[in-house]
Amino acid sequence: MPFGYYRLIMADHLTIPQELLPSDGRFGVGPSRIPASALDSLLHSSVLGTSHRQAPVKQLVGGIQAKLSELFSLPEGYQVVLGNGGATAFWDAATFSLVFSRALHLVCGEFSAKFAACTGAAPFLDPSVVVEAPAGSAPQLDYSPGCDVVAWAHCETSTGVVMPVLRPDPAPLTLVDGTSAAGAIPFDPLQVDAYYFSLQKAFASEGGLWVCLLSPAALERIQSITDSGRWIPDFLSLQLAADNALLHQTYNTPALSPLVLFDANLDWMLDLGGLEASSAISARSAGIIYDWAEKSAFAQPFVDDPALRSPTVATIDFSDQVDAQLLAANLRANGILDVEPYRKLGRNQLRVALFPAIPSSDVELLTQAVDWLVAALD
Ligand SMILES: *Cc1c(COP(=O)(O)O)cnc(C)c1O
Repeated sequence: MPFGYYRLIMADHLTIPQELLPSDGRFGVGPSRIPASALDSLLHSSVLGTSHRQAPVKQLVGGIQAKLSELFSLPEGYQVVLGNGGATAFWDAATFSLVFSRALHLVCGEFSAKFAACTGAAPFLDPSVVVEAPAGSAPQLDYSPGCDVVAWAHCETSTGVVMPVLRPDPAPLTLVDGTSAAGAIPFDPLQVDAYYFSLQKAFASEGGLWVCLLSPAALERIQSITDSGRWIPDFLSLQLAADNALLHQTYNTPALSPLVLFDANLDWMLDLGGLEASSAISARSAGIIYDWAEKSAFAQPFVDDPALRSPTVATIDFSDQVDAQLLAANLRANGILDVEPYRKLGRNQLRVALFPAIPSSDVELLTQAVDWLVAALD
């Protein structure tokens, strides 16, 4: 059995034929599949268990910063900053260090809504403006007078909707959550001031850290808010994070294994040919699963507009005759894991990660396994 493939043969579940099983059963959107080959980098890493203030770890971090600049073709003046706490902590950090007085949030699901809740609750900010679209659709990229920040998600992971990375006109500071998109969907960095993400999604690493690409305008904003005297907890200060990033470190101790796995995955992506090449894998997988759903008698893409269907997170609705929960339970019993829909969406649905570390051939096999199960459960 390949790494990570745990097949529990249970009396009350069907056994999917071996030839329909993907090479690895992990299809969750985060934490997501970590290639077995990346684990070798952990075994052979000499930095685990050593000080993050010494040269070897700083070299690892500096290497990651340089590789990200290359992967995203960062323009002159952009800075790669990182810190502890994942994208969720970044929302609080951005609330303190990037929003001057009022934020505009374009919301279309749980994750974009959570950031809106952060700025909305901040006593030192004016009430946020929230433009919300129903789950499965996307709000227009817009501008609202009086807002000095506009924020949205590149991929809204809870619904599988992808949005463009394009500054509205006129543009306030533009903040884009790239957590389930970064490394798998190309974009122009000139269109965004803060593009941030966690590592346990398209980058096939582990949770716990956030990374942010900051434009010169974002760095200026951080400086001016710091200078304004606003009280900012040190842990959430992007000024301290940016100062530390110049020295290739984080404000406090980071977990090192996610950095090692991230670095290995960045090497893999760059060897592959960079962001276009890694994105092509996700695009191919998306073509496979959405075509299959459109042709299926019992499945269909949840997102109606093909242009809004994410190439990294596929949400597939099932007709009433098929119980998606039963499907997910049978898949799980066969070692195919984490295709349950987002908890709070409450739909008869499966959600499948299409990240670059998941070969398209596995996505193809997954569709065949679902076809087999639906016929067998009938
Ligand atoms: C997963 C996810 C988050 C939260 O990431 P954490 O690492 O758990 O903080 C935020 N935004 C999006 C779009 C996500 O997919």
